[in-house]
Amino acid sequence: MTSPIHAPPLAAPDYATRFGEFVGIGPNGNLWVDGCDVAALAEAYGTPLYVISENQLRHNYRAFRDAFAAEYPDVEILFANKSNNGLAIRHIMNQEGAGGDCFGAQEMYMALLAGTDPATLVLNGSNKQDEELEMALANGLCINIDAEDELDRIADIAARLGVVANLGIRLKLDLEPLRDRMGVSMHGPGSLKQQSDSTKWGMTREQTVDIVRRALAMPAMRLKETHFHLSRMSNEPADFAVMAREMIVWSANLRDETGWTPPTIDIGGGWTFGKWYGTGPNRQIDGPDAPTPADYARAVCSAIREEAEARGLPLPKLRLEPGRALSGPAGVAVGRVGAVKRGAKTWVNLDLSTNHLSWASVLDWYYHAVRVRNAADGDCETVDLVGPLCNSDELGAHREMPALARGDLVAFLDAGGYTESSAARYNAQLLPATVLVSGGRHALITEREQMKDVAGRFRVPAHLLAASFARPEAA
Ligand SMILES: *Cc1c(COP(=O)(O)O)cnc(C)c1O
Repeated sequence: MTSPIHAPPLAAPDYATRFGEFVGIGPNGNLWVDGCDVAALAEAYGTPLYVISENQLRHNYRAFRDAFAAEYPDVEILFANKSNNGLAIRHIMNQEGAGGDCFGAQEMYMALLAGTDPATLVLNGSNKQDEELEMALANGLCINIDAEDELDRIADIAARLGVVANLGIRLKLDLEPLRDRMGVSMHGPGSLKQQSDSTKWGMTREQTVDIVRRALAMPAMRLKETHFHLSRMSNEPADFAVMAREMIVWSANLRDETGWTPPTIDIGGGWTFGKWYGTGPNRQIDGPDAPTPADYARAVCSAIREEAEARGLPLPKLRLEPGRALSGPAGVAVGRVGAVKRGAKTWVNLDLSTNHLSWASVLDWYYHAVRVRNAADGDCETVDLVGPLCNSDELGAHREMPALARGDLVAFLDAGGYTESSAARYNAQLLPATVLVSGGRHALITEREQMKDVAGRFRVPAHLLAASFARPEAA
């Protein structure tokens, strides 16, 4: 694992009610994040606002790192950059010694721009562009092959650049043992096996054998790893252990067919976080008994160890790519209450929308909502928290909330992952600002979008201008 370059000790504040180590109800009864009163942040930076806790992010990474270090000799944690690809986030991950998983030229560029060690970066993608492969090759990233013609394209570009290529292969695991295991429908309907089978990801056994054989015969190709990822928004350790075990089964098959044994297996991400108040789709995933990263590490590492021993394989280096589990609990999304309408239901309108919290509207994803001021006071009523978009824009249906009136603030917890990075502009809404809080300090890390960002990209072709504005020729 890369040594950290700046990993200060973390001291969690003494919050009365905790939603996370650095998120809770602070001294004045308001919601606080990492030493800052969220109400004060909302006044200073405006709403809608994303708030990220530097210390919570560091804590989440270390919890993962330590859980795996306790179970396995050689582990590398690669943060899934797509879950929150802000530059400040990447700097924090670099300082902690985390590698990264990149999708596409832009994410790779931002990771390189932030100074991430390319040896700890992998490039994933099902349709990598030439310029993307070139950037990866020039910088020495590991490229996880996921198409039949990719090896030859890489070989051509590597030859042109005069560099060696570090390669992985993304697998289409069989996952027979998960044929009846239901998970969240991240990849369409069906069991985990059906979801995995039906996505575009991964090469078959035959294709993998073919790629390895061909790569072994090429001079500048260095085979580094096999890779698998099934995002399933769950934390059932046994399911992840099946995936890890299947990676080893695949390794044994490759050794038998090609003589090459993958020195590293990368088991991707997909693990979510356990919270006592319940998170995840329909709030059914988590709860007070939610498994921990240590449970995950134990299940996965013992499956790998067992299977490697049974097949006479050396223990591979292990790579993981957690995204949501690290970034999710590090952030909250804050909206301000506008119109409160009473009728068949009580609708509480916020300036935050499902543009900004996109998972709130799909998969019945649940974000726990908290009133920011006097967070724990008062009787609750059932309300629908909605945003300003022209669709129903349900951020939280049927929520038990303390009284909310115009001007109040509502925070959605565990919104640090896949919110900013997947935000949309529907209804020409401006993207929110993001503030990083760090033990009482706060600093803007993403500027709020402005009207020029929305309107400034549009063009009106000449013939439309002419039709709208040209004066008819004077007779
Ligand atoms: C999305 C993704 C991850 C991270 O997934 P999480 O569910 O956020 O942990 C890791 N690896 C790859 C290849 C991914 O596509």
